[in-house]
Amino acid sequence: MRVLLTGGAGYIGAHTAIALIEAGHDVLIIDDMSGTSVEAVRRVERITGATVPTLVADVRDVDALTAFVREHAPVDAVVHLAGLKAVGESVAEPVRYYDVNVGTSIALLKVMAAEGIHTIVFSSSATVYGTPEALPLTEDSPTGIDLANPYGKTKRIIEEIISDAAAADPQLRAVSLRYFNPVGAHPSGLIGEDPHGIPNNLMPFVSRVAIGALPEVAVFGSDYDTPDGTGLRDYIHVSDLASGHVAALEQASPGYEVYNLGTGEPVSVLELIAAFERASGRDIPRRVAPRRPGDVAATYADPAKAQRELGWSTRLTIDDACRDYWTWQTQNPNGYAGA
Ligand code: UDP
Repeated sequence: MRVLLTGGAGYIGAHTAIALIEAGHDVLIIDDMSGTSVEAVRRVERITGATVPTLVADVRDVDALTAFVREHAPVDAVVHLAGLKAVGESVAEPVRYYDVNVGTSIALLKVMAAEGIHTIVFSSSATVYGTPEALPLTEDSPTGIDLANPYGKTKRIIEEIISDAAAADPQLRAVSLRYFNPVGAHPSGLIGEDPHGIPNNLMPFVSRVAIGALPEVAVFGSDYDTPDGTGLRDYIHVSDLASGHVAALEQASPGYEVYNLGTGEPVSVLELIAAFERASGRDIPRRVAPRRPGDVAATYADPAKAQRELGWSTRLTIDDACRDYWTWQTQNPNGYAGA
């Protein structure tokens, strides 16, 4: 298939591009490079040996996107990853989050309809489950209850829009993938997460502490009702997440489906820090800090539906993720900017 990857230069996008190319597909990227760099695409090309036509533009620029799709026709499918993703920022700038995340999705669906593209895989998030009522989370678990931030709400709204579009168009094959916590990097050390400023997420933060760029990890709460008192999450290696997109694309049938992409294995904050200490061979100082507002004690996936229907399952462990993240971190201490 020829696949248009929106946000294809980002952390998940670049790994998904590699997985698609390695599975025999052709990839085109549209990315405004606001959270990443064209260097990521160059490295995808280096790893795969493929040429990846790339349009640096906002997906909401319908004329530019249409021209790009026509230039590379026929485009068979879209994997839609473009969007803003910082939870805290979305609370401070809700209108920008709705504008970018919902706006890109609507623009994309319009271009797909006009250009006869009938398959879409959308990057959603386990955030749509809000505070879990029961664990593990299945695709039938309730969504939309007490979503704490506009970021999660945009994912929920886009799922609804895509579901409605599929209900109205019998040709449309639409899939939402609810990601749990993506971590790790490409094992080559060439592609990884490149957060600007001080990272919000745990593994990038821990890695910055391991390399000495930050003094210590603040463990947000040690009095949760969990085995060691710290938060439990389902950390999925980004390469496993990427292969989930390939499986979803290849198996998509007319209609709308939702799949969890997670390991099903809860890992605590302290367990992740310990795994990173093993991978890096460094001591990682940490101190207990207050709970972070909006955090839930525990969230993890039941990945059985994706296993059953897509024939997909995770292969990599938290230790693999820490090792690969550390390789990326040590080879690229300044991210893509150092290239
Ligand atoms: N966490 C932490 N210190 C940090 C960042 C995160 O203790 O500096 C904890 C957080 O409370 C949660 C887990 O690590 O239990 C994962 O947080 P992250 O922000 O990576 O992902 P989230 O699940 O919140 O989207």
